[in-house]
Amino acid sequence: MTASPLTSRPGVGSVDPAGLVERLCAPPGRADRLTHLERLPARPAGTADWPAWADPEVVAAYAARGVLVPWRHQVVAAEAARSGHHVVLATGTASGKSLGYLLPSLTAIRETRGPRGQRGASTLYLAPTKALAQDQLAAIDGLGLDVRVATHDGDSPQEQREWTRDHAEYVLTNPDMLHRSLLPGHARWARFLGSVRYVVVDECHHYRGVFGAHVAHVLRRLRRVCAAHGADPTFVLASATVADPEVAAARLTGLEVRAVTADASPRGEVAVALWEPPLTSYTGEQGAPVRRPASAETADLLADLVVEDVRTLAFVRSRRGVEQVAQRAADLLAEVDPALAARVASYRGGYLPEERRALEDDLRSGRLLGMAATNALELGIDVSGLDAVIVTGYPGTRAAFWQQVGRAGRSGGGALGMLVARDDPLDTYLVHHPEALLGQPVEGTVFDPGNPYVLGPHLCAAAQELPVTTADLPLFGPGARAVLDELTAAGLLRRRPQGWFWTDRRRASDLADIRSAGGAQVQLVEAATGRVVGTVDGGRAHATAHRGAVYVHRGESWLVEDLDLDGNVATMRREDVDYATTARDVADIVIVEEREHQAWGGCRVSFGSVDVSNQVTSYLRRRVRTGEVIDEVPLDLPVRSLRTSAVWWTVPDAVLAETGLDRSDLPGAAHAAEHCSIGLLPLFATCDRWDIGGVSTARHPDTGVLTVFVHDGHPGGAGFAERGYATAREWLSATRATIAACECVAGCPSCIQSPKCGNGNDPLDKEGAVRLLDALLRHAS
Ligand SMILES: [Zn+2]
Ligand SMILES: [Zn+2]
Repeated sequence: MTASPLTSRPGVGSVDPAGLVERLCAPPGRADRLTHLERLPARPAGTADWPAWADPEVVAAYAARGVLVPWRHQVVAAEAARSGHHVVLATGTASGKSLGYLLPSLTAIRETRGPRGQRGASTLYLAPTKALAQDQLAAIDGLGLDVRVATHDGDSPQEQREWTRDHAEYVLTNPDMLHRSLLPGHARWARFLGSVRYVVVDECHHYRGVFGAHVAHVLRRLRRVCAAHGADPTFVLASATVADPEVAAARLTGLEVRAVTADASPRGEVAVALWEPPLTSYTGEQGAPVRRPASAETADLLADLVVEDVRTLAFVRSRRGVEQVAQRAADLLAEVDPALAARVASYRGGYLPEERRALEDDLRSGRLLGMAATNALELGIDVSGLDAVIVTGYPGTRAAFWQQVGRAGRSGGGALGMLVARDDPLDTYLVHHPEALLGQPVEGTVFDPGNPYVLGPHLCAAAQELPVTTADLPLFGPGARAVLDELTAAGLLRRRPQGWFWTDRRRASDLADIRSAGGAQVQLVEAATGRVVGTVDGGRAHATAHRGAVYVHRGESWLVEDLDLDGNVATMRREDVDYATTARDVADIVIVEEREHQAWGGCRVSFGSVDVSNQVTSYLRRRVRTGEVIDEVPLDLPVRSLRTSAVWWTVPDAVLAETGLDRSDLPGAAHAAEHCSIGLLPLFATCDRWDIGGVSTARHPDTGVLTVFVHDGHPGGAGFAERGYATAREWLSATRATIAACECVAGCPSCIQSPKCGNGNDPLDKEGAVRLLDALLRHAS
């Protein structure tokens, strides 16, 4: 037990976060683990007057719910929308973004309504999930205004759908329904679609990668159909704080969009502590040191905070991890005071609603002091009024991180947020470069609407909705004409003087599954019952659903018994095992076309399309508690071929000569740089390291020189490699900094070792990678 003895108990809402962190650091060996403490001072509210055009009843409804005066960013966004400018409101969680679009849209609905209540200017609201649309419905209903609001989703009964179509003024739906129902059936929705004044795209940072490209085309189809029915809606988007929100919003809608980013909502003082677990005496692959697992570290910190009487929520990724953290914290607390052990609990998906409510009540009342939870909490369950939040491992995006940390902070009191780093390059970089997490965002929401694999099915769907004309081509981007010609050649579309027509009997919208990243879906089936537990993209199945894989689904672990690639089925059974599996793959790459490049002195950074052949060759089993590797099991899976996008960089022999690296050092240096750069790309592009892959070689046949490729893992590309190209200098500089700063001697999972390396992380040359990147970056522009 490392907690300091029970000291004076701070009263409710009077936590001194910096003092707390000091005490967490007091035990021997602990101080080094705190890599940064940032104190974000309390921010007072910046307010603005209600606009003169705002409907007095809407203003009164807000006032009755305690919003007497709006915050400045809400009014700036509302004014922009009111005057017809497309706008994206990108401010923090809980900054009241909804008022920014509700004020103009509810005002427009009420002021344009006919004398007998006929629908005037309506609003179409899109949320990435059904649950979020339901929350919004409740929030609007809660205003108690006379506005006809309805959700339209897969669960809506037929009579409700008809009422919505004929009468609703504010329709809440999702891109899936738009794609499958509203747009193909637009003739029936003509009066509604012709009346749309505002389209609200909420939580638009969710639309990224291949999904983002799909939604971008659904929105283009929506604009075209609205125009056909006489409407030209103004788009209002809401997003978490990301880099370049106006760029992402413009890509998503195909329109010029203004960004409002100055958050004027008030907040209490928050201290953010960045924490790096120490290296242990265990050794991993190639004799590398292994860092203490973040979950073990979290359990210790949770126990210490409970001893301090601080209400703490620890976010842990898997259910099993949650149980382990809660159990270990309770064991530690029992050593101090057996009564304290009972004040820690776990909270996860799979509990009954009444169990969940009891836990929430206990945490709110203070009977419980510590809780370990999965993200099931994010599914609309309300736990607030906490003093501290521990985030175990970076959750992948700043939005997710701040959403979790935002759970801490009671009115008037300080709050503590902690990030405990996992043993990977991204977490390592973040805890040593706090500006990346706390400063201006560098992470952009990326996707590529030009991906022909995505564009094709949407052009078919568009053609079935209304013939596609040459005037429509700019809407769908520069690649649209070529794709239309291919679709025509393939017999899916027919060219006539009035445009391209869909003449097939099928529903064209069935060609695109907007939630799938391409390829056939593989069903995950419970072996004993035949029940379908979930699905995985065909492209990911080799790596995540192979025989022997531990598949974590909603926090529960399943063991895959068999993967049938012909039947697209993986059979599994529920089993709690104490290890995780990681697939390893090897890849070969051929350059198809270089589309862009930057010359950096004699070096060159390029972006273009490539053919990748990729094979999953084995998997590692690793102990969850310690991170130790148990064994590596070979797999016999076929090669997958994929045409996709890549960013690559080359270093010619003349520049290599300056590095002083021996020829024999080059493969290891390039390989190490490749691994670490893949680990860091998610900092710049909202992707997962599993969405991308890499190839490095001391001499590539297509370039003739040393080349390192990082490619998208989806057919046609997802925008991640493109973002790497656009941010190449920052991205590769961060890669260099991560390798140089790592405390290991010859490379470890925190810097250059990759869990998915098909070559067993060999050869890797840590020092060589730094020298190679220095040579590349010397002339970076
Ligand atoms: Zn290292
Ligand atoms: Zn590798």
